[in-house]
Amino acid sequence: MTNQLHLETLAIHAGQTPDPTTGAVMTPIYQTSTFVQNGVGQHKGYEYARTGNPTRTALEACLAALEGAHYGLCFASGMAAIDTVLRLVKPGQHVLAGNDVYGGTYRLFVRVLSEYGLHFDFVDMSDLDRVRAALKPNTRLVWLETPTNPLLQIADIAALAEIAHAAGAQLAVDNTFASPYLQQPIGLGADFVIHSTTKYLGGHSDVVGGAIVTNDIAAHERLKFLQNAVGAVPGPLDCFLTLRGLKTLPLRMERHSANAQRIAEFLADHPGVKQVVYPGLNDHPGHRVAQKQMRLYGGMISFLPVGDATTAKRIVERTQIFALAESLGGVESLIELPAPMTHASVAGSPLQVDPTLIRLSVGLEHVDDLIADLQQALAA
Ligand SMILES: *Cc1c(COP(=O)(O)O)cnc(C)c1O
Repeated sequence: MTNQLHLETLAIHAGQTPDPTTGAVMTPIYQTSTFVQNGVGQHKGYEYARTGNPTRTALEACLAALEGAHYGLCFASGMAAIDTVLRLVKPGQHVLAGNDVYGGTYRLFVRVLSEYGLHFDFVDMSDLDRVRAALKPNTRLVWLETPTNPLLQIADIAALAEIAHAAGAQLAVDNTFASPYLQQPIGLGADFVIHSTTKYLGGHSDVVGGAIVTNDIAAHERLKFLQNAVGAVPGPLDCFLTLRGLKTLPLRMERHSANAQRIAEFLADHPGVKQVVYPGLNDHPGHRVAQKQMRLYGGMISFLPVGDATTAKRIVERTQIFALAESLGGVESLIELPAPMTHASVAGSPLQVDPTLIRLSVGLEHVDDLIADLQQALAA
């Protein structure tokens, strides 16, 4: 399978061939912890399922192909994948991260890894001068999300890859919000792409997982060693579910983006809404950069209603199709208040979000039903 094929084809076929023993078209769930050896050290590439499992191998190859990269590794969660990348950073080294990262990422950096001698600073990655000024001689890694969560800021991946490399650092992009169908950071110069496959890649809110993709063979070998040595690996059923979800990724991202664009335009015209943040709107400060590096603008919208935190709470509790829940990227629409929910771990920090900010994960229901639901929730 080569990268010349289109993403729609890769999503269905990359890493997956009919099972040679039975002809099963779909990759089986290899629900086994160990593999028989014909003689000591004589095996078919698998010894023990933490080290490797064929269902996981298929998923790793498929994700690498979708990101246009050579190597993929899968983990038990997005956080396990992030933790593993951060193990490339040695005590005393510095990580420059975006100032609007996933709450769990911030918590891992500040409350766990800082205790092991890693140093972190957080800057606005959409401001290239600030990034240049914040780099240090010991900066090992630049870490960013784009679009960010929950403020949907856009960072210029190609420009930041150049800046990071000139400073002797590597660039890691958490591509969870965009998915490889909308944006491929490796092709733009990033060294690592990280995913919470829990979100758009799995796509059905029924499995937790993570992944790291890279073209850097030395880093990949170290990450693969860590995957086995640390052991936060996904089980075969989780890999199967993620592979199944991936097959419709391109179709889903098209519809998520089309629905979100319509809803963003509806909200922008609504008198009960103060501000809409969606990279597909012309007035979004990152719209031009998003246009350059993304195919479409994704399914995530944030907005500020007119009113206070109580008003915002009332809106998210009143929608009927949009379910009040954390997470994102599934077929169903979700609504939440980041400040007390997904981003509670940054409360009181400089990354704290506006308590009235509402975040939508726009699903695949009919857009007219979604708009009617928001209309009634905003009207009351
Ligand atoms: C959810 C999420 C994570 C963490 O992934 P888990 O699978 O929940 O561990 C990391 N980054 C982003 C952008 C996320 O949305």
